[in-house]
Amino acid sequence: MRLSRYFLPVLKENPSEAQIVSHRYMLRAGMIKQQAAGIYSWLPMGFKVLKRIEQIVHEEQIRAGHIPLLMPTLQPADLWRESGRYDDYGEEMLRITDRHKREMLYGPTNEEMITDIFRSHVNSYKDLPLTLYHIQWKFRDEIRPRFGVMRGREFLMKDGYNFDLDFDSAIHAYNRHMVSYLRTYERMGLQAIPMRAASGPIGGDNTHEFLVLASTGESEVFYDAAITDLKFGDRVVDYDNREECEAIVKEWTTPYARTDETHDEAIFNAIPEDRRRSSRGIEVGQIFYFGTKYSEPMGATVVTADGARVPVHMGSHGIGVSRLLGAIIEASHDDKGIIWPEGVTPFHVGIVNLKQGDSSTDPACEALYRELSAKGLEPLYDDRDERAGAKFATMDLIGLPWRITVGPRGIASGKVELTCRRTGESEELSAGAAVDRLA
Ligand code: ATP
Ligand code: MG
Ligand code: MG
Ligand code: MG
Repeated sequence: MRLSRYFLPVLKENPSEAQIVSHRYMLRAGMIKQQAAGIYSWLPMGFKVLKRIEQIVHEEQIRAGHIPLLMPTLQPADLWRESGRYDDYGEEMLRITDRHKREMLYGPTNEEMITDIFRSHVNSYKDLPLTLYHIQWKFRDEIRPRFGVMRGREFLMKDGYNFDLDFDSAIHAYNRHMVSYLRTYERMGLQAIPMRAASGPIGGDNTHEFLVLASTGESEVFYDAAITDLKFGDRVVDYDNREECEAIVKEWTTPYARTDETHDEAIFNAIPEDRRRSSRGIEVGQIFYFGTKYSEPMGATVVTADGARVPVHMGSHGIGVSRLLGAIIEASHDDKGIIWPEGVTPFHVGIVNLKQGDSSTDPACEALYRELSAKGLEPLYDDRDERAGAKFATMDLIGLPWRITVGPRGIASGKVELTCRRTGESEELSAGAAVDRLA
């Protein structure tokens, strides 16, 4: 992409409404625009990162054997009357009446609808286990939408639902989700710690939240520092292997890590003092096992091998896809701007032409642009007629992991400058070597 042809409405001033750094940088980098409290347009660069995150979520869910589908945002109220949640959910639910006076709602989550899909089409234990998920917009009329996309009213969520014949099989699904989430967050350059949590309005007693440690997080968390040393890395998982998944879950749930709702001082105080930590965290996901809470009232049953009809065991598993942009920025930035982890960056590398219109730098930048693109790397070429300082400030703000700077003096000696956004370190090398380094 050439910056002169892109739509990147960068703000020079700090927007006064932004209280936290991720919100400030997302506005300044022209990623989002608020349209109403907690409701945002995703401008091209914000949209690009959102899609990258979505893609990682898809890949890891599919790897775990979970199946994507798409349910609508609007749902009939009657479905929610069956579970009893139409009355219980409260003011966070946006209720809508259509022209025929039918009561509808903008889905805050999809347990009822997925259970309805299941009961309409599945009848036999032979069709289990089954895990379906989608990535779809949700609406929750949050009393205090704030911090940009972190607590929006309209937000993008991945929500998955498992259907299993019995408890053990459902726990395997729970474990698969935990493992796939660990991989997912790590690919985004994030450390998200699974912490024992209390069940909210969705109900159930087996649940973990995934938290990114950050001073601006809304949750209070307590943990053993040992858990922050765990890395998932590039291990290959056989998701069908129950013992293997269970062992990974055990590894990540043995060190103490809890939100304030389940925090236990006595157990916490037994951890060696130098490892005891309390901090703030951003909830970027949650997994639940809730058994037959929905299948029973809604009649989602299967016939067993013995011919009996039993309600299926279920769980639901969410990732805050749009909140993740905020969480990643909170975890990865400096005073100049965002520092995108490679896995989610909107462009891989920025090209800065120090002298636009120059007979040596222009063709050198064009050649770099072509070669990087040919290697499957997406460059953002700042080809505007701007001062070098302004170009650098924009690149630092939007936080691409690498920058290649092309100036007349360097070109005369066959060199460009490759700069790492995270470390700030620069190196002079030939254009070809710079491309090879990034490929
Ligand atoms: P919170 O405690 O922050 O209100 P929640 O526990 O109500 O979140 P869940 O029902 O667990 O949310 O939804 C799954 C995920 O969706 C959450 O872990 C979070 O990452 C994301 N999420 C929930 N509410 C919002 C929101 N208002 N804006 C953006 N993301 C959200
Ligand atoms: Mg909530
Ligand atoms: Mg919560
Ligand atoms: Mg939650």
